[in-house]
Amino acid sequence: MTDSKKTLCPYCGVGCGLEVSPPAQPGKPVNRDSQGYPSWKVQGDRNHPSSQGMVCVKGATIAESLNKDRLLYPMMRETLDQPFRRVTWDEALDAIVNRIQTVRYTQGADSICMYGSGQFQTEDYYVAQKLIKGCLGTNNFDANSRLCMSSAVSGYIQSFGADGPPCCYDDLELTNCAFLIGTNTAECHPIVFNRLRKYHKKNSGKVKMIVVDPRRTTTAEAADLHLAIKPGTDIDLMNGIAYLLLRWGYIDHQFIDECTANFPAYAEVISQYPPDYVAKKCGIELADLETAARYWGQSKSVLSMWSMGINQSSEGTAKVQTINNLHLMTGQIGKPGAGPFSLTGQPNAMGGREAGGLCHILPGYRMVKNPQHRAEIEELWGLPTGRIAAKPGLSVWEMIEGLETGKVGFLWVAATNPAVSMPDLERTKKALLRSPFTVYQDAYYPTETAAYAHVLLPAAQWSEKTGTMTNSERRVTLCSAFRDRPGETKADWEIFAEVGRLLGFTEQFKFTNSAEVYAEFVRLTKNRPCDMTGLSHEKLNTQGPQQWPCPADGNLVEGAPARLYTDNRFHTPDGRARFAAYHSRGLAEPPDPDYPFVLTVGRLYGHWHTQTRTGRIEKITQMHPHPFIEIHPRDAAKLSIQEEELVEVRSRRGFARFPAKITKNISPGTVFVPMHWGALWAKDAEANVLTHPEACPVSLEPELKACAVQLAKV
Ligand code: SF4
Repeated sequence: MTDSKKTLCPYCGVGCGLEVSPPAQPGKPVNRDSQGYPSWKVQGDRNHPSSQGMVCVKGATIAESLNKDRLLYPMMRETLDQPFRRVTWDEALDAIVNRIQTVRYTQGADSICMYGSGQFQTEDYYVAQKLIKGCLGTNNFDANSRLCMSSAVSGYIQSFGADGPPCCYDDLELTNCAFLIGTNTAECHPIVFNRLRKYHKKNSGKVKMIVVDPRRTTTAEAADLHLAIKPGTDIDLMNGIAYLLLRWGYIDHQFIDECTANFPAYAEVISQYPPDYVAKKCGIELADLETAARYWGQSKSVLSMWSMGINQSSEGTAKVQTINNLHLMTGQIGKPGAGPFSLTGQPNAMGGREAGGLCHILPGYRMVKNPQHRAEIEELWGLPTGRIAAKPGLSVWEMIEGLETGKVGFLWVAATNPAVSMPDLERTKKALLRSPFTVYQDAYYPTETAAYAHVLLPAAQWSEKTGTMTNSERRVTLCSAFRDRPGETKADWEIFAEVGRLLGFTEQFKFTNSAEVYAEFVRLTKNRPCDMTGLSHEKLNTQGPQQWPCPADGNLVEGAPARLYTDNRFHTPDGRARFAAYHSRGLAEPPDPDYPFVLTVGRLYGHWHTQTRTGRIEKITQMHPHPFIEIHPRDAAKLSIQEEELVEVRSRRGFARFPAKITKNISPGTVFVPMHWGALWAKDAEANVLTHPEACPVSLEPELKACAVQLAKV
């Protein structure tokens, strides 16, 4: 292989290392993709510590997506019923700047919104924060991580005083018990699961795997114990496990006494969860509940993992804290093979969290509501005191509501596709139609959201721009550009910086390359929990991927940076972790006689991000040719539904139609549909037409995972 480059897979938060080599190799024919374009060859990077050379189908086929359906030039139209016309960058940016100025002076800065993405590189995120929160003075920047990981963020903050997954991937091969709850890891985080499954198989009988999921997924099939709980009973289950751990004496008194606070209130709550009550409420066998508690209690190390099944809930933060509770009561944190480990969805949602990419946070794990944090950032950005607003901005669902009321006068959407991924999709689309001015910045065209834009800006994507991404184990990888940019595409951060300069903030946006952006960003992390002052593009290039914390002085407690909290000191004012005492409120929209089924949604192995990339890869479209609905045979028989017959699914918000897949893998009373088919790829099969926006009051993450529906044969 000549001139091969090392980089990171741009799909999911596992963050696998890739090695890419140019289409032309000496003595060999030029490698071409299925459309005949010269295509880079992709394989796993054997030296990347996170993935050790492994890749899934998405990483392996990424090169196929790079040339097809690219948005190459800026385009504009005055109204949504007009066709787009090609314009110059100057024309497009002038229109954007004029609109921002008009809205700023007529409606105020809080009428300006940006909705970004965990697909941004950290440099893109950072420059966007400086523009929106710093220069324009509104915190109305939210990212699609709000729909994905914000409950994990708030759960960590509430329990430990700061965000940040405490574990590392090596823990997958050091644990005695893996507790997977609300995650189909085998399909959604395949390489994490490959590592765990290999180790579990090799240590059969000695290492336990518990999977909690209403569906019998590929992940559940590999488990020693599958708890198919009723949707919405996660907190009941975990409080029930805690009850048994306490009763059987499997708790770490010394850790509780020396390192935590609020245990008595928690003990009072869990005393109300005796096993027979919990088993009945969760719809599982009493013996299985006891087995789960025994596996946890008797294991030297326990590693919990979760993703959307926990986060996308109207009590998402409480669920995350309840997982954390189990670890705190048993001292299962800050040591090899143990800890609560959130599996991040987007490739760089972690980098977004570090750069302050949600409407309530600021760069360096700072909080908008904290006056000292705001003052530190204002000083570092060279802005007047008080420029950063003291109140959190609008979350993405609040932006949709703001479009409905006319409060939002300018919406900038970048690298995400809300016209598929938002809950209550028909309402979302109607709100987008009311937007007075929407800028949509993306690498691809068409997408479902492009139909709602007044201005389209062509973005350079992975492989065409240089920047960093952080994966779920806090490992930062430099992704260098290795291909020419097509058409007139620009990196997201370059576009934000150019708009900043045109608005008059020339001092703040002097960057000439992304290494300078990154250098400024890491300076803001000094002495913060995510201290990255020891990192630079140059260091990442020469020394390879690095985990944070990575302070410039190299001063770390023993065991870091692989794991956090190895010294049992947390980021709270007194250094103690907090127990949370929660009773479950259950689903926001439970089934009832009119809507008797619980609909749950999820991802398929080959799918990603509303199929903006994966829908353009032949191998993947063949793997997942069409949407479907999983129904238990008993429910199908009651409704006289046969395999592959079309089923109409109705919720209080809309309807969709799917061919039936009759399977015992789903519990009676629950149905499942995959969520990544938007209007571009399948007619009348959009899962989010059915879902609702009721959200966790702390994380503001909507309960996309469950709603009440009725079914009928078409
Ligand atoms: Fe890419 Fe995730 Fe697959 Fe790894 S597991 S190759 S990061 S999509």
